[in-house]
Amino acid sequence: MRSGLDAGLRSKSSSTIKMLPSFVYLTPDGTERGKYLALDLGGTNFRALLVRFKKQTSRLYHKIYTIPLEIMQGTGEELFDHLAQCVCDFLDYMGLKNTRLPAGFTFSFPCEQSAIDTGTLVAWTKGFKATDSEGHDVVSMLREAIKRRNDIDLDIVALINDTVGTMMSCAHEDQRCEIGMIAGTGTNLCYMEELKNIEKIEQRATKTEEKTQKGEKNENAGAEKNKKDGEMQKMCINTEWGGLGDDGCLDDIITLYDTEVDQNSINQGKQRFEKMTSGMYLGEVVRQVLLDLTRRGLLFKGHVSETLKTPGIFETKYLSQIESDRLALLQVRSILQQLGLHGTCHDSIIVKHVCLVVSRRAAQLCGAGMAAVVDKIRENRGLDHLDIAVGVDGSLYKLHPHFSQVLKETVRVMAPQCDVTFQPSEEGSGKGAALIAAVARRKRDV
Ligand code: ADP
Ligand code: MG
Repeated sequence: MRSGLDAGLRSKSSSTIKMLPSFVYLTPDGTERGKYLALDLGGTNFRALLVRFKKQTSRLYHKIYTIPLEIMQGTGEELFDHLAQCVCDFLDYMGLKNTRLPAGFTFSFPCEQSAIDTGTLVAWTKGFKATDSEGHDVVSMLREAIKRRNDIDLDIVALINDTVGTMMSCAHEDQRCEIGMIAGTGTNLCYMEELKNIEKIEQRATKTEEKTQKGEKNENAGAEKNKKDGEMQKMCINTEWGGLGDDGCLDDIITLYDTEVDQNSINQGKQRFEKMTSGMYLGEVVRQVLLDLTRRGLLFKGHVSETLKTPGIFETKYLSQIESDRLALLQVRSILQQLGLHGTCHDSIIVKHVCLVVSRRAAQLCGAGMAAVVDKIRENRGLDHLDIAVGVDGSLYKLHPHFSQVLKETVRVMAPQCDVTFQPSEEGSGKGAALIAAVARRKRDV
């Protein structure tokens, strides 16, 4: 992980960890005021939020929209038309259809950004596969979809990765927060990196300087000016760490079960770390282990049922239920029965153990990755000891009974020189996105 992070910052990088600049330099300062729209396309649904900042408080209104599978995997235009339709419905619902609100667009997929409000989709991850979107600017796609409707208007001021929103939202409460992490449908992390270490941005700044001297248009004036001002020496980097292992560097620890999960996915060979650590896949890893144990006659009397052969039946939320310390074995058995997996109490013990092992491995892998990140930040600053906070979001982190504890313990053991405080974020992709929109607009309007 550590060498992947370092390699990803270089300008001509072939690192599987993309290290995407976010163009977020500033953390909020508490002076944010007014009404903002936040649009959040995560892994499973789309949320529209209205965030209102007042002196000491913020209020939030939201609505959740599902994304039908045929839209997730249809054309890009259909997908963005659907999003625009949801925005229109939300504005109507809030009675704001005729207002042009500043908006932050939280888009939780890897984007190569060239400014705070533009970014081309590198590749879909998680369950998405809409055509004609990869390589396109997603902000333009949303703007165009809104224009096609011709009944609402938005001022989209920022494109935001959910990790960055999560970090910003927590930084609003705790100045030490300089990392954002997601453990939900997928997994990802962002952190504040020294601008001088981000070769890609540094080179662009230098090129622009040369161009400017020749009297050409200075496209990168913002970044350059900020750097000269000396006040913005750090930029938030969206690591996209879920791609670790796509070059084979995890092969030593990848099991037959992981390979099977990867083969059955829509993005084979990609996001190998994500497939070992996140909500969309952990249930599938468990199912593959159960299948193998059953085929070997060690479980369910060796009977491989149709249910067990069905992809997706074993959702990650069942890991949380089965692993709960409060649950008696009979209850575990009854959960399995509801799923159509009929076994003895002894079978239930085995299934529970498999769940524990799979989720523990996931938390430890994320913990190891986090240890690499905090130690890098510590070394960046030449410190013997680093005190830092992490904003975290995602259902796996928040709802699983042991994931957060194992994660924390792993970081403590693997990065002994760092003191890491984990803060579950409240509304990372909503409040955080609105804060970024507020900061971006402040900068733009200056
Ligand atoms: P997203 O990542 O799409 O923004 P979430 O953070 O809510 O959204 O994560 C959804 C994922 O979390 C789903 O893929 C699901 O597998 C997983 N999940 C949902 N409920 C639970 C639970 N109780 N325990 C563990 N994982 C869960
Ligand atoms: Mg999310």
